[in-house]
Amino acid sequence: VLGCDLMAHERSTKIGIIGAGSVGATIAYACMLRGISQRISLFDVNKEKVHAEALDLNHGLQFVPVATVNGSDDVNVLEHSDIIVMTAGAKQKPGQTRLDLAEANANICRKIIPEILRVAPDAILLMVTNPVDVVTYIAQKLSGLPTECVLGSGTVLDSSRFRYLIARRCAVAVQNVHAYIVGEHGDSEIPLWSSASIGAISLDQWVVPGHGQLARSDRTHIFDSVRNAADQVIAGKGATNYAVGLAVSSILEAILNNENRVLPVSSLLTDYRGISGVCLSVPCIVNRRGVDAALPVPMNVDELAGLKSSADRIYKVVHALGF
Ligand code: NAD
Repeated sequence: VLGCDLMAHERSTKIGIIGAGSVGATIAYACMLRGISQRISLFDVNKEKVHAEALDLNHGLQFVPVATVNGSDDVNVLEHSDIIVMTAGAKQKPGQTRLDLAEANANICRKIIPEILRVAPDAILLMVTNPVDVVTYIAQKLSGLPTECVLGSGTVLDSSRFRYLIARRCAVAVQNVHAYIVGEHGDSEIPLWSSASIGAISLDQWVVPGHGQLARSDRTHIFDSVRNAADQVIAGKGATNYAVGLAVSSILEAILNNENRVLPVSSLLTDYRGISGVCLSVPCIVNRRGVDAALPVPMNVDELAGLKSSADRIYKVVHALGF
């Protein structure tokens, strides 16, 4: 029996989540529902909160694929995690931008990264805390881990909001829309309209029943809605959690199942269309190694200029923080 237990243990994977707030707890819930990992551990400095979230999740274990869920205010609960998901930190209050959180959340990283390296030295780090591109860069520098092992959830969520809005406007299933938001997960992000497609049809050629092709005003409206999506949700309920929980669980699945999935995650770029030394999102191959390759997706002149100015904006914040 012991041998079987050991074998089962050796095969099982573990996700460690830092922060059991709205985002961390919902990521755990999404992972549980989808059976992404056999072991999920939550760590938070708020003991009551992390115990309560773990208890509530445990009460639902009967209804999901076999898993164990732990929660603790002791960082050792994250020991031997295959992936650590970082969600701890300040979140936007109405009227704040993500970049306003940079200093507070950089300080949390300074404290927590050495702890992560001690308890889970082989883990891949997936940063979700905002401003996620800045936090990903800081985690990369502080950890000294190989570039491919540190990534941020980036514009996976923004791209999913973009696809949802295109799908609705074009009266087609969201699963058939291919379209990416790249750059900062924040105000300087860029929609890649030039490569957006539905099925194998370029979005430029798509005819909306009773409307014709998407007008410039349609595109402006869609992109404004993507950029303001978080503010809209935060104004109504104080936090965003469901879509980010599902987006992050998809990234975790792509990593743990070695899927080679194409996802616009944030990673440290080196000579990507002339951009180096900054973390931001472009479509990448994601697998058990982490971020395997940034793909040379087609961009028109305006899109590329937008990506470069987004990179400059992130670089300035990182630089101001002393990194
Ligand atoms: P929240 O306030 O609900 O939860 C944050 C949790 O972090 C709290 O439970 C707090 O106790 C904990 N915490 C603080 N310092 C800690 C430390 N040093 N160690 C361990 N735990 C600590 O906030 P939330 O709504 O869950 O948001 C968390 C972060 O995720 C924010 O920065 C938010 O902006 C970000 N976020 C990112 C995305 C994305 O797409 N990247 C989407 C939504 C939210």
